[in-house]
Amino acid sequence: MFEASELVGKTYHIKTFGCQMNLHDSERVSGLLDACGCNEVLTTDDADIVVFMTCSVRENADQKLYGQASAMVSAPKPPSGKRIVAIGGCIAQRDGEKLKQHVPAVDVVFGTSALASLPELLVEAFKGHDGQVVVDTQEEGRGFSTELPSHRAQSFHAWVPIMTGCNNFCTYCIVPYVRGRERSRTFEAIVRECERLVGDGVREITLLGQNVNSYGRDLYGKPRFAELLRAVATTGIERLRFTSSNPKDLTDETIAAMKETPAVMPHLHLAVQSGSSRILKRMNRSYTREDYLDVVHRLKKAMPDIAFSTDIIVGFPGETEEDFEQTLSLVKEAEYSSAYTFIYSKRPGTPAAEFEDDTPHEIIQERFDRLASLVAKQAHEANQKDLHTTVSVLVEGTSKRDDHVMVGHSEKNQTVHFSIPNNHSCDEYIGKIVDVFIDEARTWYLRGTLVGDPR
Ligand code: SF4
Repeated sequence: MFEASELVGKTYHIKTFGCQMNLHDSERVSGLLDACGCNEVLTTDDADIVVFMTCSVRENADQKLYGQASAMVSAPKPPSGKRIVAIGGCIAQRDGEKLKQHVPAVDVVFGTSALASLPELLVEAFKGHDGQVVVDTQEEGRGFSTELPSHRAQSFHAWVPIMTGCNNFCTYCIVPYVRGRERSRTFEAIVRECERLVGDGVREITLLGQNVNSYGRDLYGKPRFAELLRAVATTGIERLRFTSSNPKDLTDETIAAMKETPAVMPHLHLAVQSGSSRILKRMNRSYTREDYLDVVHRLKKAMPDIAFSTDIIVGFPGETEEDFEQTLSLVKEAEYSSAYTFIYSKRPGTPAAEFEDDTPHEIIQERFDRLASLVAKQAHEANQKDLHTTVSVLVEGTSKRDDHVMVGHSEKNQTVHFSIPNNHSCDEYIGKIVDVFIDEARTWYLRGTLVGDPR
């Protein structure tokens, strides 16, 4: 019989690789372990429980996990003398029991739907014999992990999952195979959670899902995302963001809700992946270059100040120079203020892993470099537009280099640095919203002078 009390006093450390959904899952794991009486510690050396939250979307997260988790075999034991290593998230779901062959240090493997059973699996592992691995990757009949307690990394910001899984099957992506089909939380549960968060002093909420625009389709027979945005705003949240947004499902109703809801921030991450309709078809993205640009133009018409960021894959199998030039021209037309650019990497188990791919790596690297310099040039130009204006900033912490310099994000999601007066402490600013007059616009950040008092 499982007794959570058996975990009381155990120490834990979580290492997270990958996307926001994973970061959020880590907050839930932390909340769960706290609720069992465990204490978080800063290093793996001091931890009785080390949890790796994994992502299989990009190859480098995969490699990092294998490197770091394998190193646990020779890591010094914690003061208690026994350590349990648990691996959760997408790689755990994908590889299940096989993980043990590659990572001998692993004791517990828990899949994307098994978060709630982690304490039970840990108790079992603490009782078990060395070398035995406890695995739970079952998906069916599992509740939404978001109903679990959460230990937020920042008191002023919260991720709120509204759905999980994806029905789109882009040919390069592993998500539908490891997170399953789309499952939405109920409208009421989301709004209730947001109300509670606002009551706790949260100032910014990011609604989270693999494809937020189709929120509700599985539960209500039609998407209700536009309605959800308006309902969440009535909770009094000051800043509202959402990710990820698939362009093919972004409706005029959602654009209207964004425009008419002051809490919705004027920034949208809208993954394009390629500017070539031919490559988009091979990716199974279900929109063309023209469809994508049409969404961008409709959004700009409704919200002239909106800033866009995106994801772009370079070197997808079969990409020609002409296809790549289409990507460059789309980047110019969409005027992104930032972009996450990636060289395509094969994800085993996806259709694209079987596609012929004979473009030499040097050519792909050269394309990637050209794209990166275009994105940097545009990011600089976008930041220049805010020079000598005042922007509103949610303050998150201090700069890594100077603890008298505060860092936060503007409404358009730019990183903003500013100094605080000598007789003030950082704590007076963290989690507050301040106005900053911008006197320097660099490629990846703005720097300015504090105006008025924090609020
Ligand atoms: S929309 Fe495509 S890229 Fe995004 S999670 Fe779904 S399958 Fe993956």
